[in-house]
Amino acid sequence: MDILYLMNIKNLFSPPLFPGFTKNYRSWCSVFLALILVTLPNLAACFVPCFTWLGFQLWILGISMILLPCVFGLRVRLMLWLAVPVVLLVPACLACLFSIHSLPSSFLILAALETNQSELAALQAPVISAGIGTVVLLMLYVWFVKNRIPAALRLGAVGRVLVLAALLIPVCRDWTTEGQEVSLARIKQRLWATFPSATIYGTYEAFDIRARVQNRKDLAENITVSQEKEFQDEANRQVHMLVIGESANKSCFGIYGYQRQTTPLLDNTPGLMTFRDASCTAPCTLIAVPSLLTASPPGRVLEATRQASILTAYKKAGFRVYWLSAQKKHGTYDTLTSIFSADADEDTFVSGKFDNRGIGSYQTAQDTSMLPLVRGILQRNEPKVLFVLHTMGSHGPYPVRYNRDFVRFPADPLEAMDALFRISLGNACDPKDLELAQNSYDNTICATDYLLGSLINELKKVQASSWLCYVSDHGENSSTARFGKFMHGMISRQIVEVPMLMWVSPLYEQSHAGKVAGLKSHLSTPFSASCTFHTLLDMGGLSCPNFKPEYSTASPRFAPGPRLVCNSSGVVFDYDKQFLTQPAEVRGDPEETSDKPQDVATGAQ
Ligand SMILES: [Zn+2]
Repeated sequence: MDILYLMNIKNLFSPPLFPGFTKNYRSWCSVFLALILVTLPNLAACFVPCFTWLGFQLWILGISMILLPCVFGLRVRLMLWLAVPVVLLVPACLACLFSIHSLPSSFLILAALETNQSELAALQAPVISAGIGTVVLLMLYVWFVKNRIPAALRLGAVGRVLVLAALLIPVCRDWTTEGQEVSLARIKQRLWATFPSATIYGTYEAFDIRARVQNRKDLAENITVSQEKEFQDEANRQVHMLVIGESANKSCFGIYGYQRQTTPLLDNTPGLMTFRDASCTAPCTLIAVPSLLTASPPGRVLEATRQASILTAYKKAGFRVYWLSAQKKHGTYDTLTSIFSADADEDTFVSGKFDNRGIGSYQTAQDTSMLPLVRGILQRNEPKVLFVLHTMGSHGPYPVRYNRDFVRFPADPLEAMDALFRISLGNACDPKDLELAQNSYDNTICATDYLLGSLINELKKVQASSWLCYVSDHGENSSTARFGKFMHGMISRQIVEVPMLMWVSPLYEQSHAGKVAGLKSHLSTPFSASCTFHTLLDMGGLSCPNFKPEYSTASPRFAPGPRLVCNSSGVVFDYDKQFLTQPAEVRGDPEETSDKPQDVATGAQ
């Protein structure tokens, strides 16, 4: 019966179409099984967490990549032997896939490289399973290739055409429909999403990032930083603070004229300076933050990783530098940013630790959880301190960014999440959804107001010569935006024009009246947040090779250049000349409406 069945299958592939296959169909079935073993992570990824066609296409791509050398004449068995190192990676990738529903990325590999002993102990079970799996799979694979696949087997004409078609058809389709640039970008995207190229590239990138961190340490040792005499002679304790905001929409701040009272504490902070016309350097964190912290121009992220940061300069000038972050240390959007945390004497990621049960996942911490850390550090009475706080601010999903104490505008967390999801689908938005989402967003601004008000209070208590600078990395579209409501990443006025505030202590103003006068004279000057590096060095009387006093808002010589913004695709443009000159509809400016949100305070705060 079995023989008859096999004979029938054999007839299906009768010559002339598949002569090679008919002759060696058992061998080819074995090759196929061996390829399944090699590309098991891609096959599993098709079904985890649910089946996707894209996952299936990536599996075919993975198989085609392995067989590509055979198209040019390499014997199939030799190619499969060469793939043995790939087989060694399969169980670890599978363990990762089933744990976090993703193949290992450079960020995850980096996290693993930096994982300490106790965290590794927490991951003992998956590590042991992957180890045993590797031995079993390797033995099975070697036996299979050795005993089931003839040494002389080569890919026939049909096989070669199939492999090339699998590799080239998606590229040609993208090239003809969307052009050369998109097509090349997609090739990269596919390769970085497919095992084994994704794992190989991820490992390379993880080690590259580690090398950059190490290079920053060398850079800090070799840089020359000088300090103005009036700062060197200062007898007061010096405690300074940079707070990097996240997705904060300036037009939703009461202090910037929003009709809702979202910033009651900042409104009641005497002497607080609000810069009216600051623009971000990019609409996303990854590109924006490096050009806040360094003198690197907008969009040059990798260049920024080779430049001195605000932290480097202050540390070199004898300050104890602390990096506190509510963002993650590792992740697609985090790792390149947190490279700069290595410049600090101490860095703490309140969201970046494994939880108490030892589960290897990140917690979501709120910005206010950094406050006790700040208080603890201030109690150390160090004479010169610089804090850099990287907040989660108003990044979606909004309801997780604040607790009940900050619910000033009614927004049930689950209902707000649902509303935000429906809005993100881009369908016609229900006004109730928009109101709920806006209420939730405005509560995140209330939480930021509380954080900044509390930090200023802490600085007041230590009676030092202090400044606090708050600048958001970029903004966020609100319910009034014409497109991309409650999103960032694209270019719009609400995303580019960011809130920037400066508070100085009475002692600072007394000792450095010239700097404060400089700041006050530039509150209405349009400038780019890329001036932050120069301004904050100037505020400490510091100078280093990349410092330019004409880019400091505290300097009487302030002469900011064009406001350059780098969009998410990496294209740098002049915000004033190339964006603001377009019609309001093209820019997506909010339409003028009488139906503005009302101040519906619940009295909870
Ligand atoms: Zn951001």
